[in-house]
Amino acid sequence: MTRDSVALVTGAASGIGRAIALRYARDGFRVVVSDVDEAGGRETVQKIEEGGGGALFVSADVSDPAACEALVAETVRAFGRLDVACNNAGIGGEQAPTADYPVEAWQRVLAVNLSGVFYGMKAQIPALREAGGGAIVNVASILGQVGFAGAPAYVAAKHGVVGLTKTAAIELAAEGIRVNAVGPAFIETPMISALEEDPETLAMLVGLHPAGRLGTPDEVAALVAWLSSAEASFVTGAYYPVDGGYLAR
Ligand code: NAP
Repeated sequence: MTRDSVALVTGAASGIGRAIALRYARDGFRVVVSDVDEAGGRETVQKIEEGGGGALFVSADVSDPAACEALVAETVRAFGRLDVACNNAGIGGEQAPTADYPVEAWQRVLAVNLSGVFYGMKAQIPALREAGGGAIVNVASILGQVGFAGAPAYVAAKHGVVGLTKTAAIELAAEGIRVNAVGPAFIETPMISALEEDPETLAMLVGLHPAGRLGTPDEVAALVAWLSSAEASFVTGAYYPVDGGYLAR
């Protein structure tokens, strides 16, 4: 990373994406904070600026390929380059067994959680090439490796993100662009706050993690920061869980 390095984070108005944006700023990146939630995104920018960092909010719906292109164009226009991109935006979607899963809900989850990562990378790769190399980190999930009853669309999308990550990594390795995926287990963010309201569900979720607790956004951000850094210069095409032992069972 140089003094002028620029990082872009989608879904950065909340939860894990906000933690990643704040961490990138602490690591010295100028940060493009992107989200559909403008108020939350501007709050993330304010937090970065309060910490002495530089950031810009750009509204973009990742399920819209034109918006993903415009986001990268705005990043390069404002900050001159793009060095690191974290495709984090995602939705939980509805909970229903496969046989009952509504088609519209399937299409929306795939559009945001899988196509959104594809559109993001498609727009980011030319800018990373222009910068002479860089890194992409895609936020998958433990559910990019194993199934979960009642979440067919989410699980399928996150498995897709892992495959997309590996494929782009192979294509781009010789150009000095690394592409990796992270797999958080259940992390305390607004995405799962509804699940946490019921003590029995919360106890069940906690029990899935050998660590005996859920994770924090900062613990995911620490892994993303490392994968985005020169410390990870020989790491590409990999999937790294950050899961309190969830997948080890
Ligand atoms: P979150 O707190 O709900 O934050 C996600 C952010 O993405 C929200 O600000 C949301 O805006 C935004 N967003 C939703 N759809 C978008 C779109 N089409 N385009 C741009 N932004 C959009 O969720 P989180 O828990 O931090 O999740 C972040 C990522 O981590 C997701 O990919 C999720 O699948 C993954 N993950 C989370 C967990 C977990 O337990 N929390 C575990 C594994 C993986 P709105 O609030 O306005 O929708």
